[in-house]
Amino acid sequence: MTIAIEQIQATITALQAELPPSVTLMAVSKGHPVEAIRAAYAAGLRHFGENRIQEAEMKISQLHDLPDIQWHLIGHLQSNKARKAVQIFNAIDSVDSLSLAERLSQLAIESQTTLTLGLQVKLAADPDKFGWEPQQLWQDLPRLVALPALRLVTLMTILPLGLGPETAAAVFRDCAQLRDAIEAAGYPRLQLSMGMSGDYRLAIANGADLVRIGSALFGQR
Ligand SMILES: *Cc1c(COP(=O)(O)O)cnc(C)c1O
Repeated sequence: MTIAIEQIQATITALQAELPPSVTLMAVSKGHPVEAIRAAYAAGLRHFGENRIQEAEMKISQLHDLPDIQWHLIGHLQSNKARKAVQIFNAIDSVDSLSLAERLSQLAIESQTTLTLGLQVKLAADPDKFGWEPQQLWQDLPRLVALPALRLVTLMTILPLGLGPETAAAVFRDCAQLRDAIEAAGYPRLQLSMGMSGDYRLAIANGADLVRIGSALFGQR
């Protein structure tokens, strides 16, 4: 496969011109080679999302010369891979249970660091996706925020496939409202990570602070 470096860079320029300045563009580089990541980095992107530990580990080690790159885990993390994830990622945006958060807190304490986390929520029923349902999240929040060595930064959601635009917009709005309600309850204000290649415009129109874009940036996986 040849990497269309110039095309990636032109796409990033166009996307950056389209996105409001307050919205962060995360490049989802899963399934794409390190050359594509280098091209996106050269075009100014710093946040990269990967969803598999093994693949990420290889890429991260090959890109050690990019000092300020920020690696985000955006896929489900199994407990037995948590130690490795803590070692290689700058942020784990896809924390989806209290028990996983507790494990990450322990690991962060052991390695004497503070770990940046995101909570993944599920606002539309979807058997294929992980994430807190709001009721459970409200129940777990007091214990989550009390866990040492963690910094809760993000609220992330992924929509089920195949929603129509109106339903999708409503789910994005629900997520924005959840974020606002969490802040109103006295918890930190979380950055809202929602929207992918197919729906990022809709997500931004409904309050996204960060969009996670893969195929629209790098091409099909
Ligand atoms: C793959 C993935 C994306 C990017 O999807 P595209 O449709 O390729 O933009 C965003 N978020 C998560 C969690 C993903 O797994």
